Amino acid sequence: MIQIQHNKSIKNYTTFGVPVIAKKFTQFSDLQELNEVVSHPEVVGEKMLILGGGSNLLFTQDFAGIVILNQIKGIEIISEDMDQVLIKSGAGENWHEFVLYCVDNGYSGVENLSLIPGSVGASPMQNIGAYGVEIKDVFHSLEAFHIESGEVKIFNNEECKFGYRESVFKNIYKNQYIITSVTFQLSKKPIFKTSYGAIKAELESMGVKELSIKKISEAVINIRSSKLPNPKEIGNAGSFFKNPVISKQQFDELKLKFPEIANYPLPNGDVKIAAGWLIDSLGWKGKRIGDYGVHKNQALVLVNYGESKGSDIYDLSTNILDSVKQNFGIELEREVNIF
Ligand code: FAD
Ligand code: NAP
Repeated sequence: MIQIQHNKSIKNYTTFGVPVIAKKFTQFSDLQELNEVVSHPEVVGEKMLILGGGSNLLFTQDFAGIVILNQIKGIEIISEDMDQVLIKSGAGENWHEFVLYCVDNGYSGVENLSLIPGSVGASPMQNIGAYGVEIKDVFHSLEAFHIESGEVKIFNNEECKFGYRESVFKNIYKNQYIITSVTFQLSKKPIFKTSYGAIKAELESMGVKELSIKKISEAVINIRSSKLPNPKEIGNAGSFFKNPVISKQQFDELKLKFPEIANYPLPNGDVKIAAGWLIDSLGWKGKRIGDYGVHKNQALVLVNYGESKGSDIYDLSTNILDSVKQNFGIELEREVNIF
Protein backbone atom coordinates (compact mmCIF):
# COMPACT_ATOMS: atom_id res chain seq x y z
CA MET A 1 0.00 0.00 0.00
CA ILE A 2 1.56 3.28 -1.05
CA GLN A 3 1.55 6.33 1.20
CA ILE A 4 1.27 9.96 0.21
CA GLN A 5 3.11 12.41 2.43
CA HIS A 6 2.36 16.13 2.48
CA ASN A 7 4.55 19.22 2.69
CA LYS A 8 7.70 17.17 2.93
CA SER A 9 11.21 18.61 2.87
CA ILE A 10 13.15 16.86 0.12
CA LYS A 11 16.37 18.81 0.66
CA ASN A 12 18.18 15.63 1.67
CA TYR A 13 16.98 13.73 -1.39
CA THR A 14 19.07 16.01 -3.61
CA THR A 15 22.83 16.45 -3.85
CA PHE A 16 22.57 20.26 -4.06
CA GLY A 17 20.92 20.25 -0.65
CA VAL A 18 18.97 23.48 -1.10
CA PRO A 19 15.79 23.93 0.93
CA VAL A 20 12.68 22.69 -0.89
CA ILE A 21 9.26 21.48 0.15
CA ALA A 22 7.26 19.08 -2.02
CA LYS A 23 3.50 19.54 -1.76
CA LYS A 24 3.19 15.73 -1.95
CA PHE A 25 5.70 12.89 -1.86
CA THR A 26 5.53 9.15 -2.40
CA GLN A 27 7.62 6.21 -3.56
CA PHE A 28 7.22 2.90 -5.34
CA SER A 29 9.31 -0.25 -5.45
CA ASP A 30 7.62 -2.30 -8.17
CA LEU A 31 5.30 -1.96 -11.14
CA GLN A 32 2.20 -2.72 -9.11
CA GLU A 33 2.97 0.11 -6.68
CA LEU A 34 3.71 2.42 -9.60
CA ASN A 35 0.28 1.66 -11.05
CA GLU A 36 -1.23 2.40 -7.65
CA VAL A 37 0.65 5.71 -7.48
CA VAL A 38 -0.43 7.05 -10.87
CA SER A 39 -4.08 6.13 -10.37
CA HIS A 40 -4.27 7.40 -6.77
CA PRO A 41 -6.89 10.18 -6.40
CA GLU A 42 -4.30 12.38 -4.68
CA VAL A 43 -1.96 12.00 -7.64
CA VAL A 44 -4.21 12.22 -10.69
CA GLY A 45 -3.93 15.71 -12.21
CA GLU A 46 -0.88 16.67 -10.14
CA LYS A 47 2.38 17.81 -11.66
CA MET A 48 4.83 14.89 -11.23
CA LEU A 49 8.54 14.68 -10.72
CA ILE A 50 10.27 11.29 -10.81
CA LEU A 51 13.19 11.31 -8.43
CA GLY A 52 16.24 9.07 -8.54
CA GLY A 53 19.35 10.11 -6.62
CA GLY A 54 18.57 13.83 -7.00
CA SER A 55 22.07 14.45 -8.39
CA ASN A 56 21.13 16.23 -11.59
CA LEU A 57 18.52 18.72 -10.48
CA LEU A 58 18.20 22.10 -8.84
CA PHE A 59 15.04 23.32 -7.14
CA THR A 60 14.64 27.08 -7.43
CA GLN A 61 11.31 27.03 -5.57
CA ASP A 62 9.09 24.62 -3.65
CA PHE A 63 7.57 21.86 -5.78
CA ALA A 64 3.81 22.34 -6.17
CA GLY A 65 3.08 18.78 -7.20
CA ILE A 66 4.03 15.23 -6.31
CA VAL A 67 7.60 13.97 -6.10
CA ILE A 68 7.76 10.23 -6.77
CA LEU A 69 10.85 8.37 -5.64
CA ASN A 70 11.82 5.37 -7.77
CA GLN A 71 12.93 2.48 -5.58
CA ILE A 72 12.77 -0.46 -8.01
CA LYS A 73 15.72 -2.69 -7.11
CA GLY A 74 17.27 -5.87 -8.44
CA ILE A 75 20.01 -6.88 -10.85
CA GLU A 76 19.62 -9.97 -13.04
CA ILE A 77 21.49 -11.67 -15.86
CA ILE A 78 19.19 -12.00 -18.86
CA SER A 79 21.56 -14.02 -21.03
CA GLU A 80 25.26 -14.66 -21.48
CA ASP A 81 27.78 -16.45 -23.63
CA MET A 82 31.57 -16.65 -23.71
CA ASP A 83 31.91 -13.07 -24.91
CA GLN A 84 29.00 -11.03 -23.65
CA VAL A 85 26.40 -10.62 -20.97
CA LEU A 86 23.00 -8.93 -21.00
CA ILE A 87 22.37 -7.55 -17.55
CA LYS A 88 19.18 -5.89 -16.39
CA SER A 89 18.99 -3.50 -13.46
CA GLY A 90 16.04 -2.03 -11.64
CA ALA A 91 15.86 1.74 -12.17
CA GLY A 92 16.16 2.43 -8.44
CA GLU A 93 19.56 0.76 -8.08
CA ASN A 94 22.44 3.08 -7.27
CA TRP A 95 24.51 3.64 -10.42
CA HIS A 96 27.95 3.37 -8.81
CA GLU A 97 27.02 0.19 -6.94
CA PHE A 98 25.81 -1.27 -10.23
CA VAL A 99 29.18 -0.36 -11.82
CA LEU A 100 31.06 -2.03 -8.95
CA TYR A 101 28.90 -5.15 -9.32
CA CYS A 102 29.85 -5.31 -13.03
CA VAL A 103 33.53 -4.66 -12.34
CA ASP A 104 33.66 -7.32 -9.59
CA ASN A 105 32.08 -9.86 -11.94
CA GLY A 106 34.40 -9.05 -14.86
CA TYR A 107 31.73 -7.44 -17.02
CA SER A 108 33.38 -4.65 -18.95
CA GLY A 109 31.96 -1.46 -20.44
CA VAL A 110 30.93 0.75 -17.53
CA GLU A 111 34.20 0.96 -15.56
CA ASN A 112 34.98 4.45 -16.95
CA LEU A 113 31.62 5.56 -15.53
CA SER A 114 32.59 4.74 -11.94
CA LEU A 115 31.56 7.06 -9.12
CA ILE A 116 28.87 8.95 -11.05
CA PRO A 117 26.14 9.63 -8.48
CA GLY A 118 22.49 8.82 -9.02
CA SER A 119 20.31 5.93 -10.07
CA VAL A 120 20.45 3.43 -12.92
CA GLY A 121 17.04 4.66 -14.10
CA ALA A 122 18.27 8.18 -14.70
CA SER A 123 21.41 7.07 -16.57
CA PRO A 124 19.73 7.04 -20.01
CA MET A 125 17.98 10.37 -19.37
CA GLN A 126 21.04 12.39 -20.34
CA ASN A 127 23.09 9.50 -21.73
CA ILE A 128 25.55 9.88 -18.85
CA GLY A 129 29.14 10.05 -19.91
CA ALA A 130 32.64 10.36 -18.58
CA TYR A 131 36.18 9.57 -19.72
CA GLY A 132 35.25 8.79 -23.30
CA VAL A 133 32.36 6.40 -22.53
CA GLU A 134 28.65 7.09 -22.69
CA ILE A 135 25.71 4.93 -21.71
CA LYS A 136 24.80 4.54 -25.38
CA ASP A 137 27.99 2.49 -25.90
CA VAL A 138 26.73 -0.27 -23.59
CA PHE A 139 22.99 0.29 -23.62
CA HIS A 140 20.76 -2.55 -24.87
CA SER A 141 17.21 -1.48 -23.97
CA LEU A 142 15.01 -0.08 -21.25
CA GLU A 143 11.50 -0.53 -19.96
CA ALA A 144 9.47 2.59 -19.38
CA PHE A 145 6.01 3.09 -17.95
CA HIS A 146 3.87 5.42 -20.03
CA ILE A 147 2.13 7.64 -17.50
CA GLU A 148 -0.92 8.43 -19.60
CA SER A 149 -1.78 4.92 -20.83
CA GLY A 150 -0.22 2.84 -18.05
CA GLU A 151 1.51 0.67 -20.66
CA VAL A 152 5.10 -0.48 -20.42
CA LYS A 153 7.13 0.21 -23.55
CA ILE A 154 10.53 -1.20 -24.44
CA PHE A 155 12.95 1.27 -26.03
CA ASN A 156 16.01 -0.01 -27.87
CA ASN A 157 19.20 1.99 -28.34
CA GLU A 158 18.11 3.66 -31.55
CA GLU A 159 14.70 4.64 -30.16
CA CYS A 160 16.30 6.50 -27.26
CA LYS A 161 18.03 8.84 -29.77
CA PHE A 162 21.01 9.30 -27.52
CA GLY A 163 23.11 12.40 -28.09
CA TYR A 164 25.62 14.39 -26.10
CA ARG A 165 23.95 14.45 -22.64
CA GLU A 166 20.63 13.96 -24.43
CA SER A 167 17.91 11.38 -25.08
CA VAL A 168 14.23 11.39 -26.06
CA PHE A 169 13.37 11.32 -22.35
CA LYS A 170 14.96 14.74 -21.85
CA ASN A 171 13.18 16.34 -24.82
CA ILE A 172 10.26 14.96 -26.90
CA TYR A 173 9.11 12.47 -24.23
CA LYS A 174 9.88 14.72 -21.27
CA ASN A 175 7.60 13.89 -18.29
CA GLN A 176 5.78 11.18 -20.27
CA TYR A 177 7.63 8.03 -19.22
CA ILE A 178 8.97 6.57 -16.00
CA ILE A 179 12.00 4.36 -16.64
CA THR A 180 11.62 1.17 -14.58
CA SER A 181 14.62 -0.91 -15.70
CA VAL A 182 17.65 -0.68 -17.95
CA THR A 183 19.43 -3.56 -19.72
CA PHE A 184 23.11 -3.27 -20.63
CA GLN A 185 25.20 -5.32 -23.02
CA LEU A 186 28.60 -5.78 -21.41
CA SER A 187 31.68 -7.62 -22.56
CA LYS A 188 33.60 -10.43 -20.93
CA LYS A 189 36.58 -9.58 -23.16
CA PRO A 190 37.38 -6.00 -22.19
CA ILE A 191 38.65 -3.30 -24.49
CA PHE A 192 40.36 -0.86 -22.15
CA LYS A 193 39.71 2.84 -22.73
CA THR A 194 42.46 4.81 -21.06
CA SER A 195 43.23 7.61 -23.50
CA TYR A 196 40.82 10.15 -22.03
CA GLY A 197 41.65 12.84 -19.48
CA ALA A 198 43.98 11.85 -16.69
CA ILE A 199 43.37 8.06 -16.68
CA LYS A 200 46.78 7.04 -18.07
CA ALA A 201 48.68 9.33 -15.72
CA GLU A 202 46.68 8.05 -12.74
CA LEU A 203 47.30 4.39 -13.69
CA GLU A 204 51.00 5.20 -13.88
CA SER A 205 51.07 6.86 -10.50
CA MET A 206 49.19 3.85 -9.08
CA GLY A 207 52.06 1.70 -10.40
CA VAL A 208 49.71 -0.46 -12.49
CA LYS A 209 51.67 -2.93 -14.64
CA GLU A 210 48.78 -5.02 -15.92
CA LEU A 211 45.57 -3.31 -16.98
CA SER A 212 42.22 -4.59 -15.76
CA ILE A 213 38.73 -3.13 -15.55
CA LYS A 214 39.14 -3.05 -11.77
CA LYS A 215 42.28 -0.90 -12.10
CA ILE A 216 40.56 1.48 -14.54
CA SER A 217 37.61 1.80 -12.19
CA GLU A 218 39.98 2.53 -9.30
CA ALA A 219 41.87 5.11 -11.37
CA VAL A 220 38.61 6.89 -12.28
CA ILE A 221 37.50 6.82 -8.64
CA ASN A 222 40.85 8.31 -7.55
CA ILE A 223 40.74 11.12 -10.12
CA ARG A 224 37.12 11.98 -9.42
CA SER A 225 37.62 11.92 -5.64
CA SER A 226 40.56 14.30 -5.90
CA LYS A 227 38.91 16.74 -8.33
CA LEU A 228 35.20 16.84 -7.70
CA PRO A 229 33.42 18.04 -4.57
CA ASN A 230 31.78 15.18 -2.67
CA PRO A 231 28.07 16.11 -2.49
CA LYS A 232 27.98 14.73 1.07
CA GLU A 233 30.35 17.55 2.04
CA ILE A 234 29.59 20.34 -0.47
CA GLY A 235 26.25 20.50 -2.27
CA ASN A 236 26.49 20.27 -6.06
CA ALA A 237 25.03 18.50 -9.10
CA GLY A 238 28.24 17.87 -11.07
CA SER A 239 28.74 19.88 -14.25
CA PHE A 240 26.15 22.63 -14.32
CA PHE A 241 26.75 23.38 -18.02
CA LYS A 242 27.24 21.25 -21.11
CA ASN A 243 30.32 21.59 -23.26
CA PRO A 244 29.24 23.64 -26.30
CA VAL A 245 29.77 22.37 -29.82
CA ILE A 246 30.51 25.04 -32.42
CA SER A 247 31.25 25.12 -36.15
CA LYS A 248 34.83 24.92 -37.41
CA GLN A 249 34.43 28.45 -38.82
CA GLN A 250 33.33 29.93 -35.47
CA PHE A 251 36.15 28.02 -33.81
CA ASP A 252 38.80 29.35 -36.23
CA GLU A 253 37.66 32.91 -35.51
CA LEU A 254 37.74 32.35 -31.74
CA LYS A 255 41.14 30.67 -31.90
CA LEU A 256 42.64 33.81 -33.45
CA LYS A 257 41.47 35.83 -30.44
CA PHE A 258 42.01 33.11 -27.82
CA PRO A 259 44.88 30.84 -28.95
CA GLU A 260 44.75 28.82 -25.71
CA ILE A 261 41.07 27.86 -25.99
CA ALA A 262 40.58 24.21 -24.89
CA ASN A 263 38.99 22.35 -27.79
CA TYR A 264 38.32 18.87 -29.13
CA PRO A 265 37.58 18.44 -32.86
CA LEU A 266 34.64 16.12 -33.53
CA PRO A 267 34.43 13.56 -36.36
CA ASN A 268 31.78 15.66 -38.21
CA GLY A 269 34.08 18.70 -38.40
CA ASP A 270 32.48 20.66 -35.56
CA VAL A 271 34.52 21.48 -32.49
CA LYS A 272 33.70 20.78 -28.84
CA ILE A 273 34.86 23.54 -26.50
CA ALA A 274 35.58 22.82 -22.84
CA ALA A 275 32.96 24.98 -21.07
CA GLY A 276 35.14 24.80 -17.95
CA TRP A 277 37.93 26.60 -19.82
CA LEU A 278 35.60 29.42 -20.94
CA ILE A 279 34.26 29.94 -17.41
CA ASP A 280 37.69 29.67 -15.79
CA SER A 281 39.25 32.15 -18.20
CA LEU A 282 36.64 34.74 -17.18
CA GLY A 283 37.71 34.43 -13.56
CA TRP A 284 34.70 32.57 -12.21
CA LYS A 285 36.54 29.54 -10.84
CA GLY A 286 36.63 29.59 -7.05
CA LYS A 287 34.37 32.67 -6.87
CA ARG A 288 32.26 32.55 -3.71
CA ILE A 289 29.21 34.67 -2.97
CA GLY A 290 27.98 34.03 0.57
CA ASP A 291 27.13 30.35 0.83
CA TYR A 292 27.34 29.47 -2.86
CA GLY A 293 29.74 29.79 -5.75
CA VAL A 294 31.88 28.11 -8.37
CA HIS A 295 34.03 25.20 -7.20
CA LYS A 296 37.72 25.97 -6.75
CA ASN A 297 38.96 22.94 -8.74
CA GLN A 298 36.30 22.70 -11.45
CA ALA A 299 34.72 25.77 -13.05
CA LEU A 300 31.79 23.71 -14.41
CA VAL A 301 30.56 22.82 -10.94
CA LEU A 302 28.40 25.27 -8.99
CA VAL A 303 28.30 24.61 -5.28
CA ASN A 304 26.20 25.15 -2.19
CA TYR A 305 28.46 25.54 0.83
CA GLY A 306 25.62 25.39 3.30
CA GLU A 307 22.41 27.34 3.43
CA SER A 308 22.08 28.89 -0.01
CA LYS A 309 18.83 28.96 -1.95
CA GLY A 310 18.34 27.25 -5.30
CA SER A 311 17.29 30.55 -6.86
CA ASP A 312 20.65 32.12 -5.86
CA ILE A 313 22.54 29.30 -7.57
CA TYR A 314 20.31 29.62 -10.61
CA ASP A 315 20.97 33.39 -10.77
CA LEU A 316 24.69 32.72 -10.56
CA SER A 317 24.36 30.33 -13.51
CA THR A 318 22.57 33.06 -15.48
CA ASN A 319 25.39 35.52 -14.77
CA ILE A 320 27.92 32.95 -15.98
CA LEU A 321 25.89 32.26 -19.14
CA ASP A 322 25.71 36.01 -19.84
CA SER A 323 29.40 36.58 -19.32
CA VAL A 324 30.39 33.65 -21.58
CA LYS A 325 28.01 34.91 -24.26
CA GLN A 326 29.38 38.44 -24.02
CA ASN A 327 33.03 37.46 -24.17
CA PHE A 328 33.05 34.46 -26.51
CA GLY A 329 29.74 34.73 -28.38
CA ILE A 330 28.92 31.19 -27.21
CA GLU A 331 25.59 30.32 -25.63
CA LEU A 332 26.16 27.75 -22.93
CA GLU A 333 23.34 25.38 -22.03
CA ARG A 334 22.51 24.20 -18.53
CA GLU A 335 22.93 20.45 -18.05
CA VAL A 336 21.22 20.34 -14.67
CA ASN A 337 17.41 19.97 -14.67
CA ILE A 338 15.81 23.10 -13.18
CA PHE A 339 12.53 22.95 -11.23
P1 FAD B 1 17.83 12.78 -10.63
O1 FAD B 1 18.67 13.97 -10.34
O2 FAD B 1 17.03 12.21 -9.55
O3 FAD B 1 16.90 13.12 -11.89
C1 FAD B 1 17.42 13.75 -13.03
C2 FAD B 1 16.29 13.89 -14.08
O4 FAD B 1 15.88 12.59 -14.52
C3 FAD B 1 15.02 14.53 -13.49
O5 FAD B 1 14.41 15.27 -14.53
C4 FAD B 1 14.16 13.35 -13.12
O6 FAD B 1 12.79 13.64 -13.12
C5 FAD B 1 14.51 12.34 -14.20
N1 FAD B 1 14.43 10.95 -13.78
C6 FAD B 1 15.15 10.35 -12.78
N2 FAD B 1 14.86 9.04 -12.72
C7 FAD B 1 13.94 8.80 -13.68
C8 FAD B 1 13.25 7.63 -14.11
N3 FAD B 1 13.45 6.44 -13.54
N4 FAD B 1 12.36 7.74 -15.13
C9 FAD B 1 12.13 8.94 -15.72
N5 FAD B 1 12.76 10.08 -15.36
C10 FAD B 1 13.66 10.01 -14.36
N6 FAD B 1 26.63 13.08 -15.13
C11 FAD B 1 27.31 12.59 -16.20
O7 FAD B 1 26.72 12.37 -17.27
N7 FAD B 1 28.64 12.31 -16.12
C12 FAD B 1 29.34 12.51 -15.00
O8 FAD B 1 30.54 12.23 -14.97
C13 FAD B 1 28.68 13.05 -13.87
N8 FAD B 1 29.36 13.33 -12.72
C14 FAD B 1 28.70 13.86 -11.66
C15 FAD B 1 29.44 14.14 -10.50
C16 FAD B 1 28.81 14.68 -9.39
C17 FAD B 1 29.60 14.96 -8.15
C18 FAD B 1 27.42 14.93 -9.41
C19 FAD B 1 26.72 15.45 -8.20
C20 FAD B 1 26.68 14.66 -10.57
C21 FAD B 1 27.32 14.14 -11.71
N9 FAD B 1 26.64 13.86 -12.90
C22 FAD B 1 27.29 13.33 -13.98
C23 FAD B 1 25.20 14.16 -13.00
C24 FAD B 1 24.29 13.03 -12.44
O9 FAD B 1 24.98 12.23 -11.54
C25 FAD B 1 23.72 12.13 -13.54
O10 FAD B 1 23.02 12.90 -14.47
C26 FAD B 1 22.81 11.05 -12.99
O11 FAD B 1 22.46 10.15 -14.02
C27 FAD B 1 21.54 11.60 -12.34
O12 FAD B 1 20.88 10.52 -11.72
P2 FAD B 1 19.82 10.73 -10.56
O13 FAD B 1 19.21 9.41 -10.27
O14 FAD B 1 20.44 11.45 -9.43
O15 FAD B 1 18.76 11.66 -11.31
P1 NAP C 1 38.84 16.79 -17.88
O1 NAP C 1 39.37 15.41 -18.00
O2 NAP C 1 39.65 17.82 -17.14
O3 NAP C 1 38.51 17.36 -19.32
C1 NAP C 1 37.92 18.67 -19.48
C2 NAP C 1 36.93 18.61 -20.62
O4 NAP C 1 37.61 18.28 -21.80
C3 NAP C 1 35.87 17.56 -20.36
O5 NAP C 1 34.68 18.24 -20.26
C4 NAP C 1 35.94 16.63 -21.56
O6 NAP C 1 34.73 16.58 -22.29
C5 NAP C 1 36.97 17.21 -22.47
N1 NAP C 1 37.98 16.17 -22.82
C6 NAP C 1 39.04 15.76 -22.07
N2 NAP C 1 39.76 14.83 -22.75
C7 NAP C 1 39.12 14.66 -23.93
C8 NAP C 1 39.37 13.82 -25.06
N3 NAP C 1 40.43 13.00 -25.10
N4 NAP C 1 38.50 13.88 -26.09
C9 NAP C 1 37.43 14.70 -26.07
N5 NAP C 1 37.15 15.50 -25.02
C10 NAP C 1 37.99 15.50 -23.97
O7 NAP C 1 37.38 16.76 -17.26
P2 NAP C 1 36.88 16.52 -15.79
O8 NAP C 1 36.12 17.68 -15.37
O9 NAP C 1 37.98 16.00 -14.92
O10 NAP C 1 35.85 15.34 -16.05
C11 NAP C 1 36.29 14.07 -16.45
C12 NAP C 1 35.15 13.34 -17.14
O11 NAP C 1 34.05 13.19 -16.23
C13 NAP C 1 34.60 14.08 -18.35
O12 NAP C 1 34.26 13.14 -19.34
C14 NAP C 1 33.37 14.77 -17.82
O13 NAP C 1 32.35 14.90 -18.81
C15 NAP C 1 32.90 13.81 -16.74
N6 NAP C 1 32.20 14.55 -15.68
C16 NAP C 1 30.91 14.90 -15.90
C17 NAP C 1 30.20 15.57 -14.93
C18 NAP C 1 28.74 15.90 -15.15
O14 NAP C 1 28.06 16.26 -14.21
N7 NAP C 1 28.25 15.78 -16.35
C19 NAP C 1 30.80 15.92 -13.73
C20 NAP C 1 32.12 15.59 -13.55
C21 NAP C 1 32.83 14.89 -14.53
P3 NAP C 1 33.45 15.68 -21.94
O15 NAP C 1 32.83 16.32 -20.76
O16 NAP C 1 32.62 15.81 -23.16
O17 NAP C 1 33.89 14.29 -21.68
